[in-house]
Amino acid sequence: MRDILIRNADVVVTMDATRRELAGADILLRGGVVAAVGQGLPADGAEVVEARGCVVTPGLVNTHHHLYQTLTRAVPGGQDALLFGWLKTLYPIWARFGPEEMFVSAQVGLAELALTGCSLSSDHLYLYPNGARLEDTIEAAATVGLRFHPTRGAMSIGESDGGLPPDSLVEREAAILEDMIRVVDAFHDSTEGSMVRVGLAPCSPFSVSRDLMREAALLARDKGVMLHTHLAENDEDIAYSLAKFGVRPGQYAEDLGWTGPDVWHAHCVKLDAGEIDLFARSRTGVAHCPCSNCRLGSGIAPVRAMRDAGVPVGLGVDGSASNDAGNLINEARQALLLQRVARGADAMSAREALEIATLGGAQVLGRGDCGALVPGKRADVAIWDISGIEAAGSWDAVAALVLCGPGRVRDLFVEGRRVVAGGQMVTVELPRIVERQTALARKLRD
Ligand SMILES: [Zn+2]
Repeated sequence: MRDILIRNADVVVTMDATRRELAGADILLRGGVVAAVGQGLPADGAEVVEARGCVVTPGLVNTHHHLYQTLTRAVPGGQDALLFGWLKTLYPIWARFGPEEMFVSAQVGLAELALTGCSLSSDHLYLYPNGARLEDTIEAAATVGLRFHPTRGAMSIGESDGGLPPDSLVEREAAILEDMIRVVDAFHDSTEGSMVRVGLAPCSPFSVSRDLMREAALLARDKGVMLHTHLAENDEDIAYSLAKFGVRPGQYAEDLGWTGPDVWHAHCVKLDAGEIDLFARSRTGVAHCPCSNCRLGSGIAPVRAMRDAGVPVGLGVDGSASNDAGNLINEARQALLLQRVARGADAMSAREALEIATLGGAQVLGRGDCGALVPGKRADVAIWDISGIEAAGSWDAVAALVLCGPGRVRDLFVEGRRVVAGGQMVTVELPRIVERQTALARKLRD
């Protein structure tokens, strides 16, 4: 693979230890890593990518998604409901998915993320109808070229056992654990620069048993993989935990081994002060999904308090049935706006939002090798053209990236390989994928 020299960027946002921003700087990518950052680097035979008029950042990191949901966007009946009602509308539709739906929807979701600057995404796939498997999404990620952290999710308590999902969408717990072992053994790569890391992710405390939560935690520790689930998403969620388990979600998580630096929870909108302290002490991560929280009316996550306490926080677009856009740079803006609604105009700066979107997410996913443009880190780089109309007239290019736009990257490199060039996908034929997705959505609807 040829070296790449990104040259003359207006600003390079390094996210290094002192958060340096370098004006008129270059970045050399070699062998999948950042080889050098600075002014006037020699080309030495490298392919030169001109970045004048651009801000260059680490690739953004998405810590929560349900890629399959790109096939159920803006579904009538699911548009205006709270979480539990929304789920009940969508479950019967998802029950008709199969391998093709999982593969195509993952390609669409990941391409959308790539175009909005994301180089590393996790995914939470917790239903496997009609022969669907985790590898349907892993294969999709390989075609798109993103670094991918799929999680083997699960639901085991159906309606007849007092759970929320229909019985047709739940699996036996023994089969779930068996498949968790299978996918970790087959696909998890723990090495530095890894393109695929598998996590274990029972869907939520209201769709699996206490036993499965505990067993999954033990299995994750045994295999050295991470744990992920939904936690404390809204008031219904807290009420369910108190009624069913007699404890708040933080206590429930702690009792079952679901705290620690190898665990991250999605949403955490309703964490109280004690739970924030627990997460900070245990270095338990949070995937903050501001647009989804707005869309489902769940509330405003206490991100300011979490960050001040030292809780690792990353951003997530969440599934496209509850967002409905998979635009990660827009989530950074929304995170900033929501904290300001709750706490005032000085509650979060544009630079802090960008930090959460990059370095913060990498920390949450346990990727010390990603999230910063520092020699030795992986060559995951987003180039944003700020010469267009969105940022025209802005005085501070870095703040403008979050506050104004553009909402899409010009170029994206993952592991030193080009995924987006000139605002277009280069790894996949996007029009064909979109056409296939549209046909699948129409089939489901009719
Ligand atoms: Zn979710």
